[in-house]
Amino acid sequence: DSSSGSSGFFSKRTFPGRVPAGIGRKSLRIVVTGGAGFVGSHLVDKLISRGDEVIVIDNFFTGRKENLVHLFGNPRFELIRHDVVEPILLEVDQIYHLACPASPVHYKYNPTNVMGTLNMLGLAKRVGARFLLTSTSEVYGDPLEHPQKETYWGNVNPIGERSCYDEGKRTAETLTMDYHRGADVEVRIARIFNTYGPRMCLDDGRVVSNFVAQVIRKQPMTVYGDGKQTRSFQYVSDLVDGLVALMEGEHVGPFNLGNPGEFTMLELAEVVKETIDSSATIEFKPNTADDPHKRKPDISLAKELLNWEPRISLREGLPLMVNDFRNRILNGDAGKGL
Ligand code: NAD
Ligand code: UDP
Ligand code: UDP
Repeated sequence: DSSSGSSGFFSKRTFPGRVPAGIGRKSLRIVVTGGAGFVGSHLVDKLISRGDEVIVIDNFFTGRKENLVHLFGNPRFELIRHDVVEPILLEVDQIYHLACPASPVHYKYNPTNVMGTLNMLGLAKRVGARFLLTSTSEVYGDPLEHPQKETYWGNVNPIGERSCYDEGKRTAETLTMDYHRGADVEVRIARIFNTYGPRMCLDDGRVVSNFVAQVIRKQPMTVYGDGKQTRSFQYVSDLVDGLVALMEGEHVGPFNLGNPGEFTMLELAEVVKETIDSSATIEFKPNTADDPHKRKPDISLAKELLNWEPRISLREGLPLMVNDFRNRILNGDAGKGL
């Protein structure tokens, strides 16, 4: 084991090898923090289905046991209710660190991005695990470069309402690179652009989930501001493929993971209307402070070095989340895991 030792909270340990995952590849033991959430639960499904052991750490702040209930009873799956701002002792090969209050209505409440990331990096250092951070396109702030390349440093307000998320993730990237340079931890950084799909939180205020839920409930879609701001929307299975390609590959990153298809919020409303209900309407509401005017990933780096690119367009992906939303709305699930 060539990883650097820890003089801190826990001493360094090794742990026994484990069962083979099939011909030619050893099964890995993998932690997914935030694994009960939207992206995390889809990632866990992929890792379990390829034969790995998965330990989910989640405090159910926005995640839900329902997202993982189909795995209960699987001997290769474990779920730990734990807040990553507290230290934890585990023996693992890889850490996918997703835990984060990820939407505007939740992310102000919690120091997860700093303390949680530090603890997971400490864990990675102690056991010699590879660590992947799910950062965000929000590190580019209200970008002055368009589309955004990984080399762009961003245009972020340090004292605004969104700052705890933007700056929290920027700090998490800094900590990740510090542990890489200073303690030889193997790290990977993904900058994720807006992602949608089944199991998204129903009422956490993101635009795709808002519009889809509103139309199913026969309410008008709430367009903030003039609706001309743009985002680029990626289907969740494309993101999961990208995260795994990044973890398994040789490159630290950061890598943009997103779909370059760019839409105004008015165009998005039109696609949702076409997909779900042609009688759907919109209403305009005031926009939030510091809302980025446009966002679109340049994904040349991920294409070249990870051999990855998204496959599912917005028009193909939106219909794939409608049944899940309909069922949850019918069953009165407010989408909160607390
Ligand atoms: P989500 O809210 O569905 O999942 C986050 C999970 O983290 C939840 O299960 C939540 O309960 C858990 N969590 C939060 N704080 C925790 C803590 N202190 N300890 C343990 N668990 C905690 O959000 P998501 O969309 O699945 O996002 C996953 C990751 O991807 C986040 O890091 C987010 O910042 C990043 N990301 C997502 C998007 C997107 O569009 N979905 C875009 C950019 C970045
Ligand atoms: N940590 C953890 N699990 C581990 C190892 C470390 O939660 O298996 C936490 C530890 O409590 C500390 C953080 O990770 O708060 C950073 O650990 P590191 O060893 O890098 O720092 P130190 O403890 O030396 O300050
Ligand atoms: N938005 C909107 N109506 C909503 C929710 C959001 O028009 O009901 C807008 C929001 O102002 C922003 C865009 O949609 O310009 C994307 O918002 P979201 O919170 O989904 O993602 P982020 O701002 O983090 O990219």
